Amino acid sequence: MKLKLWQFEYSFDKEDAKIAVPIILYLFASNVYDQKIILPFISFYYFTYFFGPQMILKMSGLYEDNKMKCPQCRSKKIILRGYNTYRSDEHHAFYLCTNCKTTALLTNGGLTAI
Ligand SMILES: [Zn+2]
Repeated sequence: MKLKLWQFEYSFDKEDAKIAVPIILYLFASNVYDQKIILPFISFYYFTYFFGPQMILKMSGLYEDNKMKCPQCRSKKIILRGYNTYRSDEHHAFYLCTNCKTTALLTNGGLTAI
């Protein structure tokens, strides 16, 4: 949707509507309801709109970091030793903990000591 006022022309798209529509609704709702009730909801909406995707990425990164710890001493100082088979024909990544010298196998749930 394009808005044109005299010389000013602005294209209003879906991403702009996600920001502008809650402000307009807030202005209408502030006449009906108490602002102490509405303000936390609108601030929660904008907080999740602007910072929600970044927070989700950070949280998923923390989960991935927890998977790559030594199963014996929980140290993050591990190195990749190589790929080899273990109880099947499938190749797995073998890691060595530099702290306690434990060999670990990378599985879907993280590192497992063997
Ligand atoms: Zn270790």
